[in-house]
Formats: sequence, C-alpha cells, structure tokens
Amino acid sequence: MQKSIERIAGDSEGVSYEFPVFRFTGSDKAAPSAYLQAALHAGELPGVVAIDALMPALSRAAAEGRIRGNITIVPWANPIGRAQYHFGEHQGRFHLGTRTNFNRAFPLLAAPDTKLLPDTSFGGADQRLKSRLVQLSLGHDIVLDLHCDDEGLAYLYIHTSLWPAMADCAAAMDVDAVVLWSEDTDGTFEGASIMPYQNVPADVAKFDRRVATTVEYRGILDVDGALAKADADGLYRLLVARGVIADGALPAPGPFKGVVAPLENIDMMPAPRAGAVLYDVKPGDRVIRGDRLATIVHAPGEIDGRTEVFAPQDGIILTRRSRRIIRAGEDLLKLVGDRKSADARSGTLED
Ligand SMILES: [Zn+2]
Repeated sequence: MQKSIERIAGDSEGVSYEFPVFRFTGSDKAAPSAYLQAALHAGELPGVVAIDALMPALSRAAAEGRIRGNITIVPWANPIGRAQYHFGEHQGRFHLGTRTNFNRAFPLLAAPDTKLLPDTSFGGADQRLKSRLVQLSLGHDIVLDLHCDDEGLAYLYIHTSLWPAMADCAAAMDVDAVVLWSEDTDGTFEGASIMPYQNVPADVAKFDRRVATTVEYRGILDVDGALAKADADGLYRLLVARGVIADGALPAPGPFKGVVAPLENIDMMPAPRAGAVLYDVKPGDRVIRGDRLATIVHAPGEIDGRTEVFAPQDGIILTRRSRRIIRAGEDLLKLVGDRKSADARSGTLED
C-alpha cells in the first residue's frame, strides 16, 4: 500500500490544504478497479470510520496477494470543509467562501477523459478540490462516495443506467434501500462519476462492471464502532463480488431484498410552519396515507398553536431531521412512497 499527499492551493497566500490518498496495486490489469472516498461533506463521518475499519482487511488481502484490481482510497476527501468552524460549530456541507455545497458544481464531463476538466487556477479552492477528486476517481470501474443523512436508513443513490446491474452491490453492502435517479443538473460527485459514460462506446462505458453510487450510511450521529465494522464488511463483500479482491471463502451476495424506488416517489414534506418538531415516525417505519408524520409546535401554549403533517401516500420513512427546530418550507423527512410523489422533485435531493 502506498500513501501519497494531495495538496490543494488555498485562496490566499500562506493557505493550502492536504489530504492523503492510499493506493493498492492490483495483480491483474484486466480486473476491475475501485475508488472509495468519504466525508466530501466533511462532517459526515460514518464512511470515514468504515474505511478505517476496512483498511486492515485490505492490507491482509495485499499481504496474501489477493488484490486483483487497483484500489484508490481517500478517507477524508474534503480538507477545506474539515477545517471550517464557524462560531464553534463545524460547517462541512457548504464552502463558507462561496456558499456552494461541496457535493454540487462538480464538472460533468462529456466523456471519461481528464483532459476535458476545466482550468481551475482561478476557480477557488473548492473548485480545485472538486477537479482533483474527479481526476483521482475517473477511470475506476467502481466509484463509491460515502456520505450520511441527518437520521436515516442505510441507502444508495444509483443512476438508472446501472440498475438492476448493481443489485449485487446493494445486497453485498446490506443497505436498506436504493433510490434511482436519472437527471443531474447540479453536478454531484456521483453525477461526475457516471454521466461521462452515458454517451461513449460500450467498450469504454463497460456498464456490465461499472459501479457508481452515493452511499448514505444512515445518520450523522451513527458514528459507531460496530456499525463501522459492519459497513466495512459490506464494502469488502462488494469488492470481492466485483472481482477487485479474491476471497474464495466468501459466498456471492444473494438477491437484494430492500426497498427500490425512483427519486420521483420521494415526498420531502416541507414544514408548513416554523417551530419545534414532534415526530410520530422514525426511519424504517411503514406509513399509510393519512398517518400523522409530525406535529409542528409553532405557537406554544396557544389555541391552534400546533400544525399537523400527514402522509400524502403509503410508503416507508427513509430519513428525518436530526435537529428539531425547523423553518417554514424546510423539509421534515424523506418518505419513499409506493407511487410518484404529487410534488415530485427531479434532480438532486439534499443528502
Ligand atoms: Zn453528504
């Protein structure tokens, strides 16, 4: 295993950022390669500790000569966000200098060719970081971007072109749900990892072995040793199932038994009033149309000081907020409905 340090120039003299990259070299040039990164939203740490728990298994596989394809690992992909503290609170989601989400505004290239990347010398540190992450990841057959939600189940975002071909990956990772999307107008890292392959010849796109996903490892507080070990085991099973690592002792993943739904089925339930949220449901709960999801206490102690929010359709609760204060119009939760949402949003959801 080789460790190297990436350096990203800051936006003023005397400031620069660093992050380590770990590389395992595979023994078989024809074997699929894998790229794993975590904490692009710099405070989302379940993936960071999952990678930490995965590394000993990779080192063991390397020592035993079982690594077939190249593996590149970036355990903490966002040193800019990692260093952002604002009045004592960590702010790892948006770049404070530009207010741009760290998982938006990635370049969506027309083909998987790093020569197409835009010149970022005047683009700001966050653009230089994004360009470098695309450069590091592009060309790998498997690209996993490890995130987490507020409070939630373990789930994957997957482009429709990779489903159901990636069902084995979802089963190997033992996630609860898969959300399928087809349009990326915002430039997520996942979009930057899959869109370049949409209009290239089949022998370049290699959709039979391609994997690209945003992994949502539950909630922001689910940073836990046992979960990290379980998630690391899931990542290892995926790498074995897809031929990156050889491990004859491991059975092939069975069928995926979790929820699969298109993005259009998700109801985000914007809060009608600002106030304190009392939830009636938690991630994993099955609801039917008309069930009360939450009550917003917007005028405490007053008659009519509460507003109730009801399920618009049958479905399963995927996520909810980790904080209980809410502004009018902010989303209360993600309900994966059995049917298309009445206010279906295309494009990218907050994750
Ligand atoms: Zn995230």
